[in-house]
This record gives sequence, C-alpha cells and structure tokens, in this order.
Amino acid sequence: MTTVGILGGGQLARMMALSGAPLGLRFKVMDTAPDACAGQFAPMVVGDYRDEAALAEFAGSVDVATFDFENVPSESAAWLAERIPVFPNPRALGVAQDRLAEKTLFRELGIPVPPFAAVDTREGLDGAVAEVGLPCILKTRRLGYDGKGQFRIRTADDIDAAWAALGPQADSVGLIVEGFVAFQRELSVVAVRGRDGEFRTWPLTENWHVDGVLSASLAPAAVDDVLLATATGHAQALADALDYVGVFALELFCRDGELLANEMAPRVHNSGHWTLEGSETSQFQNHLRAVLGLPLGDTRMVGQACMLNWIGAMPDAATVLAEAGGHWHDYGKSAREGRKVGHATLRAESRAELAHALERVGQGLGREAQVAPVVERLRG
Ligand code: ATP
Ligand code: MG
Ligand code: MG
Repeated sequence: MTTVGILGGGQLARMMALSGAPLGLRFKVMDTAPDACAGQFAPMVVGDYRDEAALAEFAGSVDVATFDFENVPSESAAWLAERIPVFPNPRALGVAQDRLAEKTLFRELGIPVPPFAAVDTREGLDGAVAEVGLPCILKTRRLGYDGKGQFRIRTADDIDAAWAALGPQADSVGLIVEGFVAFQRELSVVAVRGRDGEFRTWPLTENWHVDGVLSASLAPAAVDDVLLATATGHAQALADALDYVGVFALELFCRDGELLANEMAPRVHNSGHWTLEGSETSQFQNHLRAVLGLPLGDTRMVGQACMLNWIGAMPDAATVLAEAGGHWHDYGKSAREGRKVGHATLRAESRAELAHALERVGQGLGREAQVAPVVERLRG
C-alpha cells in the first residue's frame, strides 16, 4: 500500500485524495489548521510546517510527499527531500514562491512578461514606478494568493497609499512592481510532467477573475493554433528548466494576440478543476500518477466545460444538480467572506448547449453576472 503525504490540507488535497482512492492510495495530510478541509484523510495537525519532529514523523509514514499549499517553507521541503522523494522538487517550489525569481526565470527562458522591478524602500518604489510605467501594481513577492497583498497604482498620487499598505512588509516578504496589462483575456496552461520528463497539457483554459479571485473557467479556450503552440511551449520550457514533476499551472495574459506570463502555481490549480469531469484524466489523478512515476493519463477533453467558483458561501445545489452535465463540489468549509468554499462544473456536448446550461444556472442561482462573460464568449 502506497501512502502519499500532502503538505497542506485544503480543497486541493481533498480532491487529490478523492482522485487517488481508485488507485488504491492512502494519504497523510499535514496542515496547521485543525479543521482543514482534507482533514478526513489521515490528518496531521502541526503548529508550524518547520517543526522538525513533525516533519520526521511525516517522512517516516509516507512513501512520497507533495503539496496542496505552495507556501510551505522551502527549507521544510528541502529537509524532507533529503529523506524521501518530494515532488515538485524544492527548487521549483522556491522559484514559484517568489514573484521576482519566477519572472526572472520566465524572462531567461524567453517567456514574455510584463515589465517588473524589485522594491526595497520608499525611494525604491518611486524608481520602480518610473521604470515600469503607469498604471502598475505593487505586489508582495511572497505569500500572496487570491489577489491579496496587491495594490494598484493608477497615478503617481497613489504611490504613498501603496507604500502605506504594503511598505511595512518590504523586509519580510519583499515587494515587486509590475506593469498593469490591459489584457483582453486571461488564459492558463494546466500541464503535467512525469518523472521521466513526459509532458502533457490539458486544453487551454480561459479564466475570469473578480476582485483578484478566480470566478469562472472555460475549456477549451477558443484560440488559434499559433497561440496554443506558444502557450504550450512556454509551459514546457518552464517545466523542463525546473525539472518539474507533477501538475502546475502557468497563468497568461493575452493582449492583442500576445501572451505575457503572470505567474506559475506549483500544484494542481483552480483553473484545472473542470478536468475532474471534463477530461479523460483529471489534473488530480495525473498529479498523483506523475509523483508516483506511473504512466500519465490522457488529457483530452470530453465535451465542453465551465467551472464556476463559489466564494464566501455555498449556493443551493439543486439548480446545478438538475442539469444533465451539472457537477457539484462542496468543500465542507464554513462560510467566510472571500473564501473559496466550493465549485460547480457544467459539461455539455456543444458550446451552444453549455451556454444554455450556464444561463439556466445563472438565473436559478441569481448569479447572472458570474455566468455572463462566459456565455458571451461561448456565443461570440
Ligand atoms: P492566485 O495565486 O490566486 O491566482 P495571486 O494573489 O497570486 O492570485 P495574481 O495572479 O498575481 O495574484 O493576480 C490576481 C489577478 O489580478 C490576476 O489573475 C489578474 O486578473 C489581476 N492582475 C494581476 N497582475 C496583473 C497585471 N500585472 N496586470 C493586469 N492584471 C493583473
Ligand atoms: Mg498566485
Ligand atoms: Mg494568479
């Protein structure tokens, strides 16, 4: 019996464990929260991911370790990697944890990025804004997620407020200024690379964010072959450079037909949740296959899929469950503003049918605004 250890016990760990059950896998899930949502799978609650006694116990009880949480301290990942196989490797995790290291690597690999500059001081912020140009965004280099730790600088008058908001974190997590990209579309490549270097991607996904949080994903994104090949090539270059093993996502802005890389997520990704029902092999199962050195599964789509995120509180399930292609995921979390508590995936044979299903669900749940941009894209 193989046991997979997962650092972080959120919904990603939970979906990984559910997807790994048919493979006969066992799981051990480490988290700092006693009520973590994957807690029903052999939970291990720790005060701190750096706790060496806890890490030793974890290493002694699993065959391989992976992550649900990208901000596990890289020294903890490195400590484990000296004792058991850890995928993705700690270097890849470390690069993806730091927006400056990540964007620097993208640029080295020839992957276009928005202009960016590191910021250490208040004076440095003035210089960085001058270098990058307005409008721009001040972001924390580390620990940001769901758009947290970001401040938009529209005019020079916003610089003081940006520094007041994030300057106190300059020494602890570091800061970076990035040019604001007036994109037409946001896309993500969800990809998997095996231990032997085999590389596969799922069909490109288009994403919509509200207040920095993913709201909806549509696959396949309607793109031409050149754009698809470019996006896939960027993801493969990145995976090969990092000797990456497992699933990751590369987030891209598409502006006037040009792709600019925003960030990578060194783990299964919210924009790949549709793969559970919308593709031959889900991102969760392929991640497990990759880290265990098993053959990777086919990533082709079965139909057209749209994922809707539920933020803050769960809506009523009945409207989605009444749909022929409706699938419901309640993470069992308590309601809290801005928190991802669940999602639904709608699957259909054609884009027209998917648009109809989305309209019915939008009306049934009073969420017309959430489905509107997706319906518009499907009909456009
Ligand atoms: P997550 O990891 O949850 O995707 P995050 O906190 O790491 O989010 P980003 O992905 O950097 O944050 O930003 C969140 C969203 O904010 C982006 O998906 C995009 O919609 C918008 N955004 C971020 N950076 C830029 C930019 N430079 N130009 C335009 N929009 C941006
Ligand atoms: Mg991020
Ligand atoms: Mg992001």
